[in-house]
Amino acid sequence: MIPGSDEVLFLPLGGTGEIGMNFNCYGHDGAWLIVDCGVTFGDPSNPGVDVMTADPTFIEDRRDTIAGILITHAHEDHVGGVAHLWPRLRCPVYATPFTMAVLRRKLEEAGFAGKVPLHEMPLSGEASVGPFDLRLVTVTHSIPEPNAVVIKTGAGTLFHTADWKLDPDPLIGDVTNEAALRAIGDAGVLALIGDSTNATVEGAAGSEAEVRDSLMDLVGSFTERVAFACFASNVARVQTVAEVAHAHGRVVGLVGRSLWRMTDAARATGYLHDLPPFVREDEAMLLPRDKVALICTGSQGEPRAALSRIARDDHPNIALDDNDTVIFSSRIIPGNEVPISRLQNQLTSMGVRVITEKDHFVHVSGHPARDELRQMYQWIRPRIAVPVHGEVHHLRAHSALAAECQVPHTPIIENGDVLRLDPDGPEICGQVQAGRLAVDGNDLIRLNDSNLRERNHMLWNGAATLTLVVDRKGYAVSEPQLSAPGLVADTDEDYDLMDDVIDDVLDALSALKASERRDDDKLSERLRRTVRRSFRERRGKNPKTEIHLVRLED
Ligand SMILES: [Zn+2]
Ligand SMILES: [Zn+2]
Repeated sequence: MIPGSDEVLFLPLGGTGEIGMNFNCYGHDGAWLIVDCGVTFGDPSNPGVDVMTADPTFIEDRRDTIAGILITHAHEDHVGGVAHLWPRLRCPVYATPFTMAVLRRKLEEAGFAGKVPLHEMPLSGEASVGPFDLRLVTVTHSIPEPNAVVIKTGAGTLFHTADWKLDPDPLIGDVTNEAALRAIGDAGVLALIGDSTNATVEGAAGSEAEVRDSLMDLVGSFTERVAFACFASNVARVQTVAEVAHAHGRVVGLVGRSLWRMTDAARATGYLHDLPPFVREDEAMLLPRDKVALICTGSQGEPRAALSRIARDDHPNIALDDNDTVIFSSRIIPGNEVPISRLQNQLTSMGVRVITEKDHFVHVSGHPARDELRQMYQWIRPRIAVPVHGEVHHLRAHSALAAECQVPHTPIIENGDVLRLDPDGPEICGQVQAGRLAVDGNDLIRLNDSNLRERNHMLWNGAATLTLVVDRKGYAVSEPQLSAPGLVADTDEDYDLMDDVIDDVLDALSALKASERRDDDKLSERLRRTVRRSFRERRGKNPKTEIHLVRLED
C-alpha cells in the first residue's frame, strides 16, 4: 500500500477503540508520518506484563517510507512506546522541549541515547517532515506543552487535536490559542482527528485554577500530615499542591521516583521555577506533622508505587497514622477501580482520612467535555471528523456530536483500518495488522506468544514439578519429590493429595515395560501424563507439569 500524491490516508495502529497506546499514521505521496507512540498498561489477563505497545508490523515493513514521528506531549500513552519501538522504526523524532526532556531520559535508560535523531521544535513551531508540513498549536491539557498539530499535505490540511481541553487558567503554560484555531478553520480543514475521552460528559472540563482554590480551603482545615496522590506528569497539579502547601506553611516532600523524574524535566525546561525546592522523603518525615505535605505516586493503586507501600506499612521512609489525610487528586482510570478501592480501604483502616473526587472538588479532567468539543468544531469546521483516543462508546458519542455540529462526515473506525480522507466521503480502503506487543522484561513479544500463553496457563492451573531419581533399569531409588506452587496449600488435606499423586506415579512406574523404563524421553513423558491426569482427576486442574529425571548409571 503506497499512498498517492492525490490522497491522504489515516491509519490508527493504536488508541482508536481504546484509551492508551496511541499510534497514528498519516500517509501521503509515498510517505508516512507517525503521530505519537504510546504504551498501555497490562491487565490481569496477561500476567507479568506491565506495559504494552501497538504492533507496528505494517509500518515497520515500510521503514524506508517513514518520514518521522511527532510526539504531541509527554504522557505515557503518547510517548511511552518510543524507547521500545524506535529500533524497529529508526526514523527522526520531533517534539517540544519538555516532551523531549522526558523522552531523552527514557532513551538514556533504554541505552540508545545519541542514536535517535531528535528534532526539538519550539512551541507553535513548524517543521517539514517529508511531504508533510507540520505546525504546532498550543492547547491546554494536564501536562506541560500539550500540542495539537496542523498537517498540511498536497491533498488537504488535517488537524490532529491530540489530548486537549479549554482551560482558561491552566496555571502552567499558555491558554489554548483560540485565534490560531479560528484562523486554521478559516483556511479550510479537510479532516479533524480528535480526542474522544470525555465525549459522553456534558459541560466543560473545568480549570486547574478552580482546583487550586478548592484545595486552598480544604488543606487549611488539617492539623496533621497531608499527602496527595496525583500523576507525576501532571506538573500543573504538582505546582498547585506546592502553592497550596506553601500558603499553609507546609514544605513539600516528593515520594516516588517518577515524581522526581518529571519535576526535574519540568525545572530543566523552564517550569516550576518560582517554587521552593522539594524535600526528600526521609527529610519530610523529620518535619513537624503540620509543616509537611507529601506528594505520592500510586494514585491508581499500583502495588509497587509509593502509596500502596505506605498503605501496607511497607515503605522504607514514609508512615502515615491516625488523623493524617490522603487526598486523591486524580481520576480513576477505567479498569483500576478494584485496586484503588483496596488501597483506599487499607488507608482508612490505618485511621487515615481519605478524600476523593466524590467527597470534595479536588480534580479536573484534562480532556474536552461536550461543550468544548462543540466549540472546537465551530472554530475548525472540518469536512471530516475522525474520533480517536476513546473506547467505542466514546467514539460513537463523539461522532454523533460532530454530526450535530454540521460536520458532513464522521466515520467511526478501529485500529488497523486505513481510511482515505476523501472530501466527498471518506472510505475504508484497507485493513492492516494491528494488535499489541507486550513489553516482557527486555523483549517485545506478541500477545499470543507461547511464553505468555504458558504463564497464563500456570496462573489458572498452577504448575507441578516432579523430581525422580532412578537407577539404570528405571526403578525409583528414592521417594519421588513433588512440588506444586499455586496448586496445593500447606494443609493436611493437600499433603494427602500430594501423597496420592506420588502413589499414582509409583503405580505407573511399576506398570511400565522394561524398555520404556530405560528410555529417558519415554519415561519422562509417561510420568508427566500421570501427574497431570492425577491432578485433573483429584483437583480438576491441568497444571503445567515438568519432570526432572535423574538416572544413576551404576
Ligand atoms: Zn495526555
Ligand atoms: Zn492521551
